[in-house]
Order: sequence, then C-alpha cells, then structure tokens
Amino acid sequence: MTSEWKTLEDVEENIFECKACPLSETVINKVVHKGSDSPKVLFIGEAPGKNEDETGVPFCGRAGKILDELIDYAELKESDWAVINTIKCRPPKNRNPNKTELEACKPFLKRQIELLDPKLIILLGNTAEKAFLNGQKMEWGAVEEFEGRNVLKIFHPAALIYTRSRTEDQHRFLDENRYLFS
Ligand code: SF4
Repeated sequence: MTSEWKTLEDVEENIFECKACPLSETVINKVVHKGSDSPKVLFIGEAPGKNEDETGVPFCGRAGKILDELIDYAELKESDWAVINTIKCRPPKNRNPNKTELEACKPFLKRQIELLDPKLIILLGNTAEKAFLNGQKMEWGAVEEFEGRNVLKIFHPAALIYTRSRTEDQHRFLDENRYLFS
C-alpha cells in the first residue's frame, strides 16, 4: 500500500527493494530523485539511461546538461525544482519502457508526486505523458489540469541534443507559462 510510505525515504527504500518487473534483473543502480524535497516545479523524465544506471543519479549525462540550461533559463533556484523518472530501472539498450514496466512502477511515481507536492508538473516528452496521463494526449507547450495539478508538456532534453533549433520553442513553452512557477 503506497499510503504506508509516509516519506520520500520510505518510497526510496521500497524502490531499492522492488522486483516488480524484469528490469530489476538487469539494473545496476536504481535512479530515484534529484533536487528539492519540496519543489515548485517537478520535471518527469522517461527512464534512466546508461550514465544514470552507472551512477544512480537522474539526468547526469548530455541530456542532463540541457535540462540544467533549461532550469537556468526558467530562473529556478536549487530549492525550486526536482526531477524524477517514470520508471526507476534502465531498460536494456535504452529502449522505451513498455506498458507493463510503466504500470509496475506507477505506484512509486504517484507517491513521489504526492509527497513532493509541486505547483507545476513538467512532463519531459511522450513517455512521461503516457505514464502520467493514462493515455490522454497533450499538445507540446500546453498546460492542463490533471488530478488537481497543473501539467505542462515540453520536449525531452535528449530531443534537443541533435535538434537545437527546438530550443526556442522550448523557451517559449516556459515563457508562456512562467506565471505558474514564478
Ligand atoms: S522499474 Fe520500477 S517496478 Fe520495475 S523493478 Fe525497477 S523499481 Fe521495480
């Protein structure tokens, strides 16, 4: 029962012990959370990649640098933001998480959101949308209310590595919705 997890530490402990899907057999390090414990803005990414699996730290590779640039652009202080992923173990060869894995890991995602209690959730790409919105689709840069929370969908930072021209759009998505986190 996720309600028995009273703190973020309880959630983390249960993630470390979890064997609810086959990814537990290949994972090196489970990847839980980076940033504030009471953020204004919570970014939700996809799944851990190679660097994250090796270190246990979310968004520590090239995509992480792009996320850092975005956080700077948004003028968020260290205490203002946090980032988590839809699932906590790396899928082999960085494939997208499948439906079974997303469902198995969802109790952790939901309880992290409840305990972090952000003003705004920023979904980083389609996998985060799929995991969080139960099949509902959003426009890029749009804000909608879901389960009582404001949710904004923007590009995953990895999508900007080879298409930096999307950076202007990404900045516009933040500028248009700055009132939600300033
Ligand atoms: S991905 Fe999530 S559900 Fe699957 S083993 Fe890891 S922590 Fe458990």
